[in-house]
Amino acid sequence: MAKNAKLIIASTRLPVRVVKSNGKITYKQSDGGLATGVSFVSKSRDSVWVGWPGIASDELTKQDKIDIIKELKKRDCVPVFLSESQVELYYSGYCNATLWPLLHYFTDMAHHNIDFWNSYKEVNTLFAKEIKKHMNDDSQVWVHDYQLMLVPEKLRSYSEDVHIGFFLHTTFPSFEIFRLLPEREALLKGLLGADLVGFHTYDYVRHFLSSAQRILGYESELGAVKAEGRRVQTDAFPIGIDYKKFAKSSKDRDVKKRVNSFALHKQKTKVILAVDRADYSKGIPARLDAYELFLKNNPSYMENVVLVLLAAPSRENVEAYQTLREEIEQKVSRINGQFSTVDWSPITYFHKSLPLSEVSALYAMADVMLVTPLRDGMNLVAKEFVATKHNKSGVLILSEMAGVASELPEALQVNPNNSEMVAAAIEQALTMPLNEQKERMQAMQSRISQYTIGRWAEDFLTQLAKTRDKHAVSVKKITKDTHKKLVEDYRQADRRLILLDYDGTLKEFVQTPSAVLARPSIKLQRILRKLARDPKNNVTIVSGRPKGILSSFFEDIGLNLVAEHGGWVLNAGSWVKSSLAAKKWKKDILEIVQAYADRTPGAVVEEKDFSIAWHYRRVSPDLAYVRKEELKMELKTLLSDVEVGVFQGNKLIEIKPERMHKGAIASDLITKEKWDFIMVIGDDYTDEDMFAVSPERSYSINVGNSDTKAKYQLPDVHHVVELIKKLSEIK
Ligand code: UDP
Repeated sequence: MAKNAKLIIASTRLPVRVVKSNGKITYKQSDGGLATGVSFVSKSRDSVWVGWPGIASDELTKQDKIDIIKELKKRDCVPVFLSESQVELYYSGYCNATLWPLLHYFTDMAHHNIDFWNSYKEVNTLFAKEIKKHMNDDSQVWVHDYQLMLVPEKLRSYSEDVHIGFFLHTTFPSFEIFRLLPEREALLKGLLGADLVGFHTYDYVRHFLSSAQRILGYESELGAVKAEGRRVQTDAFPIGIDYKKFAKSSKDRDVKKRVNSFALHKQKTKVILAVDRADYSKGIPARLDAYELFLKNNPSYMENVVLVLLAAPSRENVEAYQTLREEIEQKVSRINGQFSTVDWSPITYFHKSLPLSEVSALYAMADVMLVTPLRDGMNLVAKEFVATKHNKSGVLILSEMAGVASELPEALQVNPNNSEMVAAAIEQALTMPLNEQKERMQAMQSRISQYTIGRWAEDFLTQLAKTRDKHAVSVKKITKDTHKKLVEDYRQADRRLILLDYDGTLKEFVQTPSAVLARPSIKLQRILRKLARDPKNNVTIVSGRPKGILSSFFEDIGLNLVAEHGGWVLNAGSWVKSSLAAKKWKKDILEIVQAYADRTPGAVVEEKDFSIAWHYRRVSPDLAYVRKEELKMELKTLLSDVEVGVFQGNKLIEIKPERMHKGAIASDLITKEKWDFIMVIGDDYTDEDMFAVSPERSYSINVGNSDTKAKYQLPDVHHVVELIKKLSEIK
């Protein structure tokens, strides 16, 4: 990548918020985590941040917008203006009432509404179009979070070369949850436009890979998803905090002053602190239940402990958040009503957002920090508390369901749904010896002080650049020049041999081997007919499919056909049998293969004249892996005496005579005449045999991006069809 290439950050919200009051526009800069992280990496690069300025455009005049664009430009920001209806349908709707609950396992709370989805698509397109204006092929574009999942794919359609990274700041749920989304395919494909997709934890990476495999059928290798013609790297990058800022904060005069001003500080009361956005994923009601149980179980703590509960207002225009607030407030007042004395209340509750200096003062003052989300992508509050405790006393109680749990094993980890466990952890925390507190705190501090928010941002962008190098477009990829030469050589030639595989080459794979779905489209038929009509051409489809199906697909098209990898050849209108068939072997094997299919839901057996195929495209991947390996092993032992082999194809196991392969028939055809132009295209292991016998001067082309003996590669079926269409048009 060129030095100082443009860095484009895209997130729904800009780090600056525009507010209009009494006709006057003001700007509020955010000091949130992402803004801090980006400030580390943008210093050394020419950068721009694309996002929504937080105000509906209906409230703005034309002149307001011009002024905003001008002012934001000074801060290296570019606005994407959203209308009131987009804010409602896209932001409060699809983002916060569909995706957010579902990604956090709250399936019952996820609303499925087509207007939400349409608005999500529309806004993602708006973002992509705005980003496009600022990028060139050397740019790094870093797209953030679940609100913009379709942006990477859109950007990819604008440029194959631009470097696109995506980071998800929430959990990525297990496949069983993600599959519930009506828009699951589109969202996954959207993300797979990126070169690198980052998550907080390796568990989320696993869930994403499994969804890509089970929903789109894309396999992965060493964390790289093999999407159509491209490789998309995934990895875990646990976001950090501005460690120094928090480590210093408890020594800060202002923070000290605030701590001293807290009445609680002057009493002997132990302080348990909880700080969250008021979000149902944070488990605030369950936490209150556990605290109530703790009070019941430990009457000696009456008047000696207080829970400071800070619930910052969040998404208040979404109904679920209004209900949550009511639930929290009812519980708080019930517990206070039940346990309070004239001088003491067990809970001090705030429903407001405090500035970071005040939050830091609360961290500094707290003896115990209670972080018990039901689900949380990471949870920065836990890291901030740990960083603030420079004197190393204090205990963190932490939910196992927070992403941060894997980084902080020294915390008292709890299942937030288990009130007894949380209540017992509160008691353990309040009685923990000081030396144990310090030991645990030190271990946590030394870990999170390393991977800070700055390191996180730098690491992501470094990996993004490396990903591109690692998955550099194959050297075999047909360049514009090769394409031109191929077309020219074709034009010049008088005798041309064109050998084409069918499934995976001219037609995308379908779910079952059945002929119904795999039929060639009218467009493909037209192209093949035109190509075959040219008297200079011998166009032969060399397929593993049975002859009957090939005849029905290509009747009247005038092509030459080879079925069953050379088992049958269509010669002057009639099928001729190969001499390469092995002795009788099929009957016994068929029974075994069928038995495996019977106990493997989704598996299909295809019996052909010379071979048997065991298809497992529709079998759940883990089961498929086990069964195919068992089957291969059993067959290899049984077939050791006959000249029949077991071959691994694309989502199938093929049992066929060893000598009967596409190479044999391709070799016959190649040597039959003196060809001026030879082109061989295929995608599977069976096609490798054709590539192996193709003379040096031929255009042998593999479809996909696996290792191949072919000289060239095309990324997918679409590119193959376009190529032969172009050739068919040459007079
Ligand atoms: N925070 C704040 N004021 C408040 C409550 C929270 O500044 O009144 C900050 C807190 O310090 C933390 C962030 O909000 O940096 C919350 O991040 P976290 O990852 O814990 O949860 P999220 O809100 O992203 O789900």
